[in-house]
Amino acid sequence: MQIDIVSVFPEYFDITGLSLLGKAQEKGLVTIKAYNLRDWTHDVHHSVDDTPVGGGAGMVMKPEVWAECLDDLLGAGGTGRAGGQATDPVLIFPNPSAPLFTQADATGLSQASRLVFGCGRYEGYDARIPDYYRSRGVDVREYSIGDYVLNGGEVAVSVMLEAITRLLPGFMGNPDSIVEESYTGEEPLLEHRQYTRPTTWRGMTVPEVLISGDHQRVDRFRRDEALERTSRIRPDLIGRLDCDRLDKKDRKT
Ligand code: SAM
Repeated sequence: MQIDIVSVFPEYFDITGLSLLGKAQEKGLVTIKAYNLRDWTHDVHHSVDDTPVGGGAGMVMKPEVWAECLDDLLGAGGTGRAGGQATDPVLIFPNPSAPLFTQADATGLSQASRLVFGCGRYEGYDARIPDYYRSRGVDVREYSIGDYVLNGGEVAVSVMLEAITRLLPGFMGNPDSIVEESYTGEEPLLEHRQYTRPTTWRGMTVPEVLISGDHQRVDRFRRDEALERTSRIRPDLIGRLDCDRLDKKDRKT
């Protein structure tokens, strides 16, 4: 997978060289390049923003500079400054007023071969930028990572990037690690709670069933806990479950 990120602070993405994501790049599973949007400006101040049309506080990111950059990266008549032209780039803009980014979105996007992220700043980017690329047939997505406002898109892109790339085949040492997780699979529940050794620590003991060696009982316990926690903490997720998939014991939970 090839990932290009455009930001006025490309240094934010130095962290992508760390940990599992760094290893995934060494293994050749993913290539990540961060570009400075100001490299596509032509004025002495390298300005990327202007005042809002219609008035109001703050500044808005200009469409011209984004378009020069994205034309280059997407290969839409640009100079090819960024190199490699993939066939299915998905263009993603983080935006607090967009639909929430979910595990299902991460799963879908992990199947793309090329992602291009554009990080907003200030009051955001001119609304015509995503509209223009959509009108040109590009798969454009806008996502919020939560109901709060950040200073810029860099942290939001880091979140999405990590959620997507950890699903790439070969990313995890143990592929089972990503199968049974919160929000994952056909029944997106919160996961049961986790424990490790020692089984008694500071007078606190792990649930007895987990050391019984009875795998059926362990599975039942974990599923009940997942259902109970989901209905208490995230009733919205329980509401979306397919009742036909619940067995009789689930229905009593
Ligand atoms: N004026 C915008 C609003 O009220 O919706 C907020 C703009 S925010 C200060 C600047 C940029 O940060 C946004 O364009 C977006 O790229 C990013 N951003 C901020 N909060 C975000 C969130 N919750 N999810 C995704 N991106 C976010």
